[in-house]
Amino acid sequence: MAEQLLIGGTWRDGAEGNRIDVFDPATDELITSVAAGTPADAVAAVDAAAVAQKKWAATAPRQRSEVLRACWQKMMDHSDELADLIVREHGKPLADAKGEIAYAAEFFRWNSEEAVRIHGSIGTAPSGAHKIIVHHHPIGVVVVVTPWNFPAAMITRKAAPALAAGNSIVVKPPRETPLTALRIAELMGEAGLPDGVVNVVPTTSSGAWFDAAVEHPATRMVSFTGSTEVGRILLRRSADRVLKTVMELGGNAPFIVFEDADIDAAVEGAMVAKMRHSAETCTAANRFFAHEAVVEEFTQKFAAAMAAVKVGNGFDAGVTCGPMISAKAIDDIASLVDRAVSAGASVATGGGSMEGPGHFFVPTVLGGVAANSPITRHEIFGPVAPVISFTDTDSMIAQANNTEMGLAAYVYTTDIGQGLAVGERLESGLVGLNRGAMSDPAAPFGGMKQSGLGREGASEGIYEFCETQYIAASW
Ligand code: NAD
Repeated sequence: MAEQLLIGGTWRDGAEGNRIDVFDPATDELITSVAAGTPADAVAAVDAAAVAQKKWAATAPRQRSEVLRACWQKMMDHSDELADLIVREHGKPLADAKGEIAYAAEFFRWNSEEAVRIHGSIGTAPSGAHKIIVHHHPIGVVVVVTPWNFPAAMITRKAAPALAAGNSIVVKPPRETPLTALRIAELMGEAGLPDGVVNVVPTTSSGAWFDAAVEHPATRMVSFTGSTEVGRILLRRSADRVLKTVMELGGNAPFIVFEDADIDAAVEGAMVAKMRHSAETCTAANRFFAHEAVVEEFTQKFAAAMAAVKVGNGFDAGVTCGPMISAKAIDDIASLVDRAVSAGASVATGGGSMEGPGHFFVPTVLGGVAANSPITRHEIFGPVAPVISFTDTDSMIAQANNTEMGLAAYVYTTDIGQGLAVGERLESGLVGLNRGAMSDPAAPFGGMKQSGLGREGASEGIYEFCETQYIAASW
């Protein structure tokens, strides 16, 4: 297991010799500990990244492409080992962990194909006086900060396009799940990535670490995935150096079931949108709006499907919901459920946490939830589904949009015209129409409003990691 800092191609301990304990959330047992970096280590990592970036940017796009393709292959060759690591430190079911590795690796393959297709343009100025040449440079050193809910994919979704465009990165993985990040970085080295292009520095002092990294004059960009609350802090700090930022933040997704929907398909989609990766995804359906004519049938069938979920250790056969990441997560979820029930919601199934060891919550469906209840205003980040009845489409859309978040939304209807029209009115960066899952490296991922800035994946993802330059030319 890679358990040290990776700086400039060298594995070493942090400047003060501290460690971060990594726990298995299914058992509360210590897995191991990894080296904890200090602000001085963050500075050393940016120093190393700055030196490596110059050479990396000068390599031919084809060469960068081939290294990234080799990273994809390496991850796939080690997918069982990486999936095991994710289950141990995150707790998600093994099948979800394998799915995450395939998704995470695909960012390398997709961006290996994009690396050789960073296109500019040439045109004539309207006055006819000169030519307008537009092209794209790598931006430089990128500081990458990631959350624990996708220990692999949140790293590669940033690393792959950043590297494809010729940048180098300094990664601060979350303290809960640093093992997957360190092992992926090790595999990238084995795949032929030059030393210093990727640096990984876990830390327990993320604020001071981040300040040191962004104050370094070589740092040019921050790419963050995590909560909106922390995103705001990082935006403020990045503003002092006018750094470019990409922010992938929190969500509060509506899941809408119209009266003409195929209810069995809607329940199947609801299970995917709510429960995959142990219900700890930023795109998780957070508020279920079901038309009055079908709300009872939907709630009953959904509750039956939730009641059938096997909760337990992600390694155990048949388990489709693992532990939550911490005891605090359990307390937060329980408090939202208790407040919803006090405000009049009924419990269709579940309703509370389970005995330890480990941090487990019983999959829960709440019926009769008021549209403005606190549970509809917070990202639940756990296996709890509040169902809200609606009659009027316009007021339901107004309620669905009545949040500062705008990451994902889901619509179930057999009237595709209605589905598309409603999708267009939802203030959401991603819309699933008769689908409970939509993430794809070939599609632009990102949120509207306070769910984020910028997009990851697709063709535009790589341009986030570029500076655009215009040359006015006469010939
Ligand atoms: P978080 O915001 O608490 O932490 C994210 C990262 O920021 C971690 O590495 C953490 O150590 C670091 N961090 C925390 N405080 C910091 C500070 N003051 N300075 C510098 N770094 C700091 O989020 P989390 O609990 O790890 O993840 C869950 C959140 O992430 C949810 O809100 C979820 O919606 C969001 N998320 C969003 C996306 C997306 O693509 N939009 C994807 C996954 C997760």
